[in-house]
Amino acid sequence: MSSQFQGYQINKTEDGQTCELKQLSDDDLMEGDVTFKVEYSTLNYKDGLALTGSSPVVRKFPLTPGIDSCGTVLASESDRFSVGDKVILNGFGVGEGHSGGFAQKARVKSDWLVKLPDELNSRHAMAIGTAGYTSMLCVMALEKHGITPGHGDILVTGASGGVGSVAVALLSKLGYSVVAVTGRMNEESFLKGLGAAEIRDRAEFADKARPLSKELWAGAIDVAGGNTLANVISQIKYGGAIAACGLADSMSLPTTVAPFILRSITLYGIDSVMAPIALREQAWNRLVKDLDMSLLEDLSFDLDFNDLPQAGEDILAGKIRGRAIIKIPE
Ligand code: NDP
Repeated sequence: MSSQFQGYQINKTEDGQTCELKQLSDDDLMEGDVTFKVEYSTLNYKDGLALTGSSPVVRKFPLTPGIDSCGTVLASESDRFSVGDKVILNGFGVGEGHSGGFAQKARVKSDWLVKLPDELNSRHAMAIGTAGYTSMLCVMALEKHGITPGHGDILVTGASGGVGSVAVALLSKLGYSVVAVTGRMNEESFLKGLGAAEIRDRAEFADKARPLSKELWAGAIDVAGGNTLANVISQIKYGGAIAACGLADSMSLPTTVAPFILRSITLYGIDSVMAPIALREQAWNRLVKDLDMSLLEDLSFDLDFNDLPQAGEDILAGKIRGRAIIKIPE
């Protein structure tokens, strides 16, 4: 591959930042022991913030955004990877402090890379992306807690979003009865198609929570935080658990210790960004086994590489449904 390649680059200006699709060269690549050809990427909310500059997520300039990417190794000084290996990259501050996937090439630390499982292609991996992989981490936390389908219903908040939709699909394939919470009640058929047994309006979870409410759920996956999570906590059955990964509602958590000390419930915090490689590999291998790949088509859509700046605006405006798959031009 030539030392020249196409990629988006964010530069700092006096009154903010610019983001342009330009001709880059190997000199623009950042430090690392593996260089790979990016074949597919996807779009996350944080990428929207980086592309538009509406929040200072980019910490180093110039920088190529793109948290998620998947491609083929072009050069490696690492024992773990050889030329031709397929790799997945996400987290570790890529797309914020280190150049990422919105370019034809990337160079990163081998410690950040996961080998693409043989059964998965790059397109599927990016349809799953950080959101899907985070869902798997949440499911694994509930399993580790010992929650089985026999314990009762599992609640998933933000069910039509990236993390929530994959969580619904995974849990239902694993035999759990899933209750999906959404603000988009018109998405009922989409959510039932993913395997949700029941749909609840998120308005039911919006008011200030009581310390304890009726015990309803064996476990929950929460992407919302705020009153939503506080209400979920108050409704978890004795000994149950919640895997919390997001703040789509709020960063606050207006709850009390009552459900913890009177019902022995557990709140697991899930972080995908700094998750160790062994856990990541486990999660990606579980996704191969436990996610119905035919559902990925319903969960995703193709986004043209050239349309990324507009898509960055759209994701911040909540106009994007499902996972964007971006094929990086050859
Ligand atoms: P999306 O934007 O795709 O989905 C979020 C969903 O949350 C929305 O689709 C909506 O679902 C729901 N929602 C939106 N606003 C509210 C609200 N005020 N109250 C309750 N629910 C709301 O985002 P992702 O699924 O990709 O990410 C979800 C969250 O998880 C984000 O906060 C993200 O930052 C975080 N995250 C954290 C990771 C980690 O490592 N911890 C990794 C990935 C994501 P609906 O319309 O169905 O109600």
